[in-house]
Amino acid sequence: MNATMQRFSLSGKRALITGGTRGIGFALAAGLAQAGAQVIISGRQQSTLDAAVAQLRQIDVTASGILLDVTQPDRIRAAFATLDAPDILINNAGTEQICPSLEVDEALWQRIVDTNLKGAFFCAQAAARLMATNGGGAIVNLCSLTSKVGVPGAAAYGASKSGLVGLTHTLSSEWATLGIRVNAIGPGYFSTDMTEVFYQDRAWCTAMLAKIPLGRFGELEDLTGAAIFLCSDAARYITGQVLYVDGGYLASI
Ligand code: NDP
Repeated sequence: MNATMQRFSLSGKRALITGGTRGIGFALAAGLAQAGAQVIISGRQQSTLDAAVAQLRQIDVTASGILLDVTQPDRIRAAFATLDAPDILINNAGTEQICPSLEVDEALWQRIVDTNLKGAFFCAQAAARLMATNGGGAIVNLCSLTSKVGVPGAAAYGASKSGLVGLTHTLSSEWATLGIRVNAIGPGYFSTDMTEVFYQDRAWCTAMLAKIPLGRFGELEDLTGAAIFLCSDAARYITGQVLYVDGGYLASI
């Protein structure tokens, strides 16, 4: 491999992907592992975690799992205490529930914001404490189109994902001296357990497709190149950025 391609390799790096049991997190774990990283995925249930780790090992990569509910900072600290310093953290664990804003209650708000924003911060903090002792690292936060545009019924989700952009900016400026880069990926429309309900609505699909210049919804593999790049030495001068992987949606609305 020549020196230019070598910079894209994640060989020898340890990567933790929160919420890596399915959907985008699982795809990113597989992609990072195929780029050479040793991956650790987190999930909240031992059975689904074990199944996802076994599936990753089937593609002949180094993978392990760790139980973690990101809404609990004390559990995050305890989980990270069992790990060697990661070189990469992907803050992917997330949740969503569409609800008219007039009906949002405190429990819904707290569940979504605690998972998507508080969880991402305390995972980043726990990872950065280890990364700082190990020469630095790269953190990637999973943002959203709702970080940038309003989506009716997504008040808590949009607030959490917009907050994640602010967090990305703050941490990137604060931790650069520790050798830690903090960036974000903003996926467009990807069919997963979280979003499946939308894709069952033909009218919604037709209307959305008309707004995506590249003319199709995202496939999970469309996200892996962006994640590998941002975590690799090829992006060593990039921090505090949000890379939208959306088929051109944001540029055209
Ligand atoms: P999925 O619902 O398919 O997967 C969510 C993952 O998050 C699961 O692995 C789940 O793990 C984990 N998770 C949920 N709550 C918690 C928690 N409290 N603690 C730890 N882990 C948790 O979602 P997606 O793959 O679609 O989404 C992944 C990320 O991408 C999210 O942050 C989402 O907001 C973001 N995103 C997704 C888009 C899309 O179109 N799909 C668009 C924009 C952003 P468990 O096995 O424990 O349930």
